[in-house]
Amino acid sequence: MSYEVVCGIETHIELNTDTKIFCNCTTAFGGDPNTHCCPVCTGQPGSLPVLNKKVVEYAVRAGLAVNCKVNTISHMDRKNYVYPDLPKAYQISQYDEPLCENGYIILDSGKRIGITRIHIEEDAGKLIHEDGYTYIDYNRGGVPLIEIVSEPDISSPEEAKEYAEKLQLIMRYVGISDCKMQEGSMRCDVNVSLRKFGSNEFGTRTETKNINSLNFIQKAMYAEIERQTDILDAGGTITQDTMRYDDVTDTISPMREKENSDDYRYFPDPDIIRFEVPQAKIDEIKASLPELPFDKLKRYIDGLELPEMTAKHMYRYRKVCEFFEEALKLGAGVKNASNLITGTIYATLDTEEDKENFEIKVSPSQFAELVKLLDEKKINFKMAQTTLQEMLVSGNPASNYIKAEDMEGVSDDEITKFCQEAIDANPKAVEDIKSGKDKAINVMFGYIMKQTKGKADVKKAEAIIRDLISKM
Ligand SMILES: [Zn+2]
Repeated sequence: MSYEVVCGIETHIELNTDTKIFCNCTTAFGGDPNTHCCPVCTGQPGSLPVLNKKVVEYAVRAGLAVNCKVNTISHMDRKNYVYPDLPKAYQISQYDEPLCENGYIILDSGKRIGITRIHIEEDAGKLIHEDGYTYIDYNRGGVPLIEIVSEPDISSPEEAKEYAEKLQLIMRYVGISDCKMQEGSMRCDVNVSLRKFGSNEFGTRTETKNINSLNFIQKAMYAEIERQTDILDAGGTITQDTMRYDDVTDTISPMREKENSDDYRYFPDPDIIRFEVPQAKIDEIKASLPELPFDKLKRYIDGLELPEMTAKHMYRYRKVCEFFEEALKLGAGVKNASNLITGTIYATLDTEEDKENFEIKVSPSQFAELVKLLDEKKINFKMAQTTLQEMLVSGNPASNYIKAEDMEGVSDDEITKFCQEAIDANPKAVEDIKSGKDKAINVMFGYIMKQTKGKADVKKAEAIIRDLISKM
């Protein structure tokens, strides 16, 4: 029997603020264990948490970027549970009044995936098991997170992956997190249930925790759908378990029984007063949002008239876009600039992360200078590529590699001379051109380019050749 898949995703994203959510401890990664903590983030009696303003601002930014309504009044709750890496036995989170609600993301198909809520909370500590001992490291305790909860609108593993990918891209764009799944700054919990087609009732769902790659979201879902299908087909019932996905064996297995929210005994945190985000502040944050990724993609294709493929190779990397747009502002032409970026520059950036970081030695102004030489046909594309390769290694300007005589190009008299030579040497091509086989002209371009070391202007050469042939 086949079933309809119902899926919702909870995404934890670590905010890249300098300090923790309730104290001034650093959020810097690493450091010796327990060197980035204080009585507040370890929950010592008598210590008083103070909510970090920046955390609220970042969460509002995230919410506005995915079309949420931001609540002007909000508060923090204590979520009480005993969990090995939560030494203070409660986590400060938000329960019934989250900061942001009712947003959405639109998939490429046009389907809208609702976002139920975005709330802020603190990260727990970390346990290290070694030589039969368990050590605790509080450094991560109190690192600010947002949790983005989707509606159960997702109906396939492909949609789940696309949703997470789009979320990641948007959050990177608005600058609240690097969303590196492999480093844990973005983690997804995927809830899956199956129901018979046509049924309005939800089946029992399971939650696969802490998935740390976009591909694993898809794979874990496939494994879980298969597992649930087998159970239901055999007449069994699904239990509400927390699942673990093992990416090495590509298998899924129950980890523990899932708690319901009433198991957490939430209550308003008595140490933190209700907080207000004034509407004026929300408006100010909204106005400060950058162009969002899908608006940018649309503008690159429709406005700048970039080929869709090129636009898609660029828009997802914020720093690449900044570099490109800066070069355009300095006068570089769209076509040559984008071709050199996605061709020559990308060739030196192997991984997605390299493109994401975009640490290159060429500045936008050096790049614009080179592109302008190409735009003005003072150099040809091949020479621009070679020069750019040199610049990427050395960080020196184009003028170090292009000699003045290279940029002089070839005089009209010289081109005419070479065109005549090309015609004389290729009588067959001349006949072909005369009989309308235009491609034959390429034979002559080859000759002219060789003679001029690639400096001749092809358009000019073409005009001269046609003129000479017409007079024959
Ligand atoms: Zn602290």
